[in-house]
This record gives sequence, C-alpha cells and structure tokens, in this order.
Amino acid sequence: MREIHVSIPVRMDDGTTKVFQGFRVQYNDAKGPTKGGIRFHPEETIDTVRALAAWMTWKCAVLDLPLGGGKGGVICNPKELSNSELERLSRGYIDKIWQFVGPDKDIPAPDVYTTPQMMTWMMDEFSKLTGKNEFGCITGKPVSIGGSCGRDDATARGGMYTIREAAKELGMDLSKATVAIQGYGNAGCNASYLCKDILGTKIVAISDSKGGIYNKDGLDLDLACSIKGETSSVVHAPSESAQLISNEELIELDVDILVTAALENVITEENAPNVKAKIVAELANGPTTPEADEILYKNGVHVIPDILCNAGGVTVSYFEMVQNMSCYYWNVEEVYERLDKRMTESYQIVLNASKTYNINMRQAAYVVAVGRVVEVMKLRGWI
Ligand code: GLU
Repeated sequence: MREIHVSIPVRMDDGTTKVFQGFRVQYNDAKGPTKGGIRFHPEETIDTVRALAAWMTWKCAVLDLPLGGGKGGVICNPKELSNSELERLSRGYIDKIWQFVGPDKDIPAPDVYTTPQMMTWMMDEFSKLTGKNEFGCITGKPVSIGGSCGRDDATARGGMYTIREAAKELGMDLSKATVAIQGYGNAGCNASYLCKDILGTKIVAISDSKGGIYNKDGLDLDLACSIKGETSSVVHAPSESAQLISNEELIELDVDILVTAALENVITEENAPNVKAKIVAELANGPTTPEADEILYKNGVHVIPDILCNAGGVTVSYFEMVQNMSCYYWNVEEVYERLDKRMTESYQIVLNASKTYNINMRQAAYVVAVGRVVEVMKLRGWI
C-alpha cells in the first residue's frame, strides 16, 4: 500500500553524526490500521520489511484482529550503540515517520532487537510531536506506561497454546515429549520456560547465533539463562551441564518438537529431509523456506506456520491497544485467558481448513487469512 524510506541523522557519543537508513512498509489496511513491529538489525533490507509487512497482514487476519499489516526496520547494529545513541535513533526514527503512523493509522511494536524501553522513547517522541499523551500509538510498552500485562512473553505463550492443540491432534503425550529451541532471544528464552510450565515437556537443546547446547536428560534453564545474560551466549555453559552442538545439528536432532525462534530461512531444502521432529513450531517469522515446507509436509511433519504460531505477540498488542483506548487495564489472568481463547480458536479454524481442502497448515492459514482480507476489500469496493 505504501512504503516510507527515511534517513535518520543521529549525534553519536563521540560528537560525530551518523546517518541511519530506516523503512516503514504498510502493506494492507482493509481490516483496520496497519500493525507490526520495528526491527533494528545490521542486515535489514527493504525486501525483508516488505515481506514481513505482508506476513503481518495475514497474521492479523488469521487471528481475525481488526488490523492490517505493516512493518518497520532500521539498518543498525544495536549491540554497538550506547543507550543514549539508541534513544536518539529511536526518537529520530519517529521524527521521520510520525505523520504516517498513529493509533488509528499504523501502530508499531517491538521486533528483533527492539525493546519496551525503545517503544517508550518512540511513544514519548510521538506524544511530543502531537502535543498530547498518545499511549496507543505504539504497543509493547512497559506495563507502568500503558503496556499490557502478559505482553512480554505473549509470542512464546501463544505458540505454546498452538503446540498444545497440535499435540492433541497428533495424540502426542507432552509429558514425555522432548523439545529443541533454535534462537534464544525474547521468544526463544520465554518459550524454554513456558514449554516446561505450560506443556510439561523436557527442553533438551537451545541455541543462539553463536551455537547451541544439548543435554538428552534436559537442560538446566536457569543456568542457561544466567550464562546468556552474563556472557551473551549459551555456548559458555559449563561442559558438565551440556554438550556443545551447532545450530545445524540442533535442527536435525531427534526430538518431538522443534521450535524455530530466531530469523528467516533456517529450515531449507538441504536440512528439511533430516528434520526428525513431529511438530515444528515457527515462533520466528519465515523460518522455513517454501521448498523445505513441501519436504516437511511430505514427511508428515506437522508445521504450525509462523502467521499462526507466533501471533500471540500481536494479539496481546491488540489487547494493549484496546486497554489504551478504554483507559481500563486487565490483570494478567484475563490476558492469558483471552489469548488462549483466540489462539485455540484460530488453530482449530486453520486445522479444519487444512482437513477440508487437504492442504498443509500453512496453506490453510493463508486460505483463512486471504479469504478474510478479500471479503473486506470486496465489501469496501476496492476490488
Ligand atoms: N513483532 C511481532 C510480530 O512479528 C509483534 C507485532 C505487534 O505486536 O504489532 O508479530
């Protein structure tokens, strides 16, 4: 529908000025204002942001949220920027796009390497520009400043509900199931705890961009989490607690459930034939290539597609918008209950479509999503 390219000059701590490149893509707003995260990543490209904006459209439609799809990105390496440089970059990005976003136009949120603190700077900058408090202009804020309870682990939690439904469908006993998680950012780290707490499964492997760790008897999650916090990678876990494995080995591990929670294109036509998991849960956006998808389907792997599996994040973002608009805030139990209901219903609708048309879960999710968007576009007289 629209794409915005901006140059963002940022005063660096050493007194120099660096110019960053940023994007915001608004793909389709037939069902409501566009919605989607902002990524800060050194390898960000406009093509990735375009694809992610399209996926947000289908994701919101699968969950039947009254929202369209959009996405933002800034080419930068947040790990090399100080806190004050990140603040000036976050505010600078909003200075350049603020006329095109807002609570009833396009509502950004966190994504790869962006945080609730950055969302607060962005919300504050937008509020300064419009001259009033605009809590609803962005989601994923801290709870004390208009965020929703339960937003922090919503992506992982929503994914758990879909895994629970998939396990019921496949007759899998989750109390005996093993899990490998690729990616240890917000989604992957929360998933490791929630797999244990909600599903009762055993986590045998986790990985981050530097590599992974494996213990067939189950990993010590608190230890992995503190090692990650102290050294920035789980690979520094003591050797008596787990053995080192590569990201490639993790994908092919003999586990019941594989959770892909990092970036795009990790299951490819090369490694897909070797995936042994019975369920692949896509907590990341676009982790499976189209070629790999077909191989997994032929091999009987039940893939819970990204636009369904990771939709818990945007669903609680939507709850956050509703709470901001009504100025009335829900407790965490209410959020979990509403999230569970939405995710479970959506999973069942997609599963039914896959059975009705004899297609895989991803194709079924698209049948549901595209159908809903097309219906609204027809009603509005756009097509
Ligand atoms: N970035 C998340 C996603 O890809 C959440 C988007 C949102 O909350 O708007 O779904």
